[in-house]
Amino acid sequence: MATLIDFHCHVDLYPDPPSIVAECDRLGIRTLAVTTTPKAWPQNRKWTQSSTHVRPALGLHPQVVAEREHEMALFEQYLPEARYVGEVGLDAGPQHYHSFDAQLRVFRRILGLCSSHPGRILSVHSVRATSKLLDAVEDLLCPGSSTLVLHWFSGTKAEARRASDLGCYFSVNRAMLDRKRGDLVQGLPADRLLTETDGPFTMVADRPARPSDITETVSELASILKLPVEKIAGQLESNLRTLVAMGESRS
Ligand code: MN
Repeated sequence: MATLIDFHCHVDLYPDPPSIVAECDRLGIRTLAVTTTPKAWPQNRKWTQSSTHVRPALGLHPQVVAEREHEMALFEQYLPEARYVGEVGLDAGPQHYHSFDAQLRVFRRILGLCSSHPGRILSVHSVRATSKLLDAVEDLLCPGSSTLVLHWFSGTKAEARRASDLGCYFSVNRAMLDRKRGDLVQGLPADRLLTETDGPFTMVADRPARPSDITETVSELASILKLPVEKIAGQLESNLRTLVAMGESRS
């Protein structure tokens, strides 16, 4: 069986984060531990420093930018030691639209920083803001510097094409694989796909999803793409290898 990948999981929001890290190492699940505030970076780094399979990401979630924009100073301080960045992005949904100007300011600043610290891999949130997000990427991210992975992509097919032309990857979770949205996933380039749980924010049978639930995601993805599970798992593994190698060669 190829390596399993959970490229967007809030490990630090489970009741016992070290047990999640241990589970990922034991089951061989390559996991990106995204965070929501720069203040969480030192602790997440500590939890994952001896992990074989879990990597921490430095984040400033768009939904907390209204209260935490001042933590950009910490973000800048920690970025040189963070190969992965996330969760960052834009959220123009009704609950968070009030802070959209601040979100845009923060995201643009992050893209600028990731151009001058190349080789970063970003896990990016985009709710009702894909076009604005891609405009910012086009404006501010030096081509070939850092790579975006669009998490839980919910834009249109045209936006997906534009994102992949800009070099973006897509991390896909189970909520994107239902009948209505599976169609969009089918249109994404196979060599840019990764999987994610977004746990503990997504549910599996009335409990928060865990990285080990990614096996289900891979089999559902395989059935939507009409490919054998082994084949899609191998493709995902090779996508991750390419993405990580690209980051290493640039930094
Ligand atoms: Mn998330």
